Amino acid sequence: MIVARTRTSLHEARATLPGPVGVVPTMGALHEGHLALLRAARRRDRSVVATLFVNRTQFNDSSDYAAYPRDEAADLAAFQACGVDLVFAPSIEEMYPDGFGTRIDPGPIGADLEGARRPGHFSGVATVVAKLFNLTRPTRAYLGQKDWQQTRVIARLVEDLNLPVKLVIVPTVRAHDGLALSSRNVRLSPDQRRAATALWRGLELAASAWDDDERSPAALADLVRVTVQAQPLATIGYAEVRHALTLEQVAVADPPLVIAVAAEVGGVGLIDNVVIGEGLMEDGSL
Ligand code: AMP
Repeated sequence: MIVARTRTSLHEARATLPGPVGVVPTMGALHEGHLALLRAARRRDRSVVATLFVNRTQFNDSSDYAAYPRDEAADLAAFQACGVDLVFAPSIEEMYPDGFGTRIDPGPIGADLEGARRPGHFSGVATVVAKLFNLTRPTRAYLGQKDWQQTRVIARLVEDLNLPVKLVIVPTVRAHDGLALSSRNVRLSPDQRRAATALWRGLELAASAWDDDERSPAALADLVRVTVQAQPLATIGYAEVRHALTLEQVAVADPPLVIAVAAEVGGVGLIDNVVIGEGLMEDGSL
């Protein structure tokens, strides 16, 4: 496994990789969710590139950035164990040298939900992902369902800027109690950790109500909201039923749908979702 820390060394190493090439962008502090993406890439592509960069510009809250868990040695060992061929782990200066000025605005798809909760977040994501795709030149990029809106923002970016990459969306990996794995979960106390399971319990209630023919978006969203609000340690951000691809509001809950929830527990921002609709996980294209 080659570890490239500069654009020049990445370029040299990338030139030696046989295609097709899969890329898995990460901010490190790897858990089983990241590993699922890496394994999906390893199964499908001839060469696998992982990126490791905690992108300052997508954090609207500087204390969240400062508290973001970092363990490069463990991350490199995990990449190696997953059969990654090349890791790009640049410094901040390498990604944002003096004079850097371009910011990509993904438009309405990034304005709402997480975009409203975290102003500027998706502009930071779109900008760094465009740079990482240009630098690593992948055939496919592997993204996690857990960050559903992020998958839609990146799909919009790929379409709008004609980036030559296919997106593969990998289902959310969960702990035994249903909590979606997240690098931020390590910051939860045992009590907060228990409270955090309300997001998934609420989503499960909504998904089973949908199975029982509940088609009111407001009624489905309320099931999630009420479940989260029942936890004194959790503060609801939003619970919404949207069109899964455009993220627009819907009058009737017909697939493709996403039921998305965000909450804060002990100052830690958590998100989760369920997607209702056939074949959406296979291909993230619009
Ligand atoms: P991050 O390091 O948090 O930026 O995440 C890197 C990639 O891993 C993103 O595509 C995430 O959506 C994905 N990811 C994070 N958590 C999970 C999870 N629990 N299951 C599946 N994918 C995940």
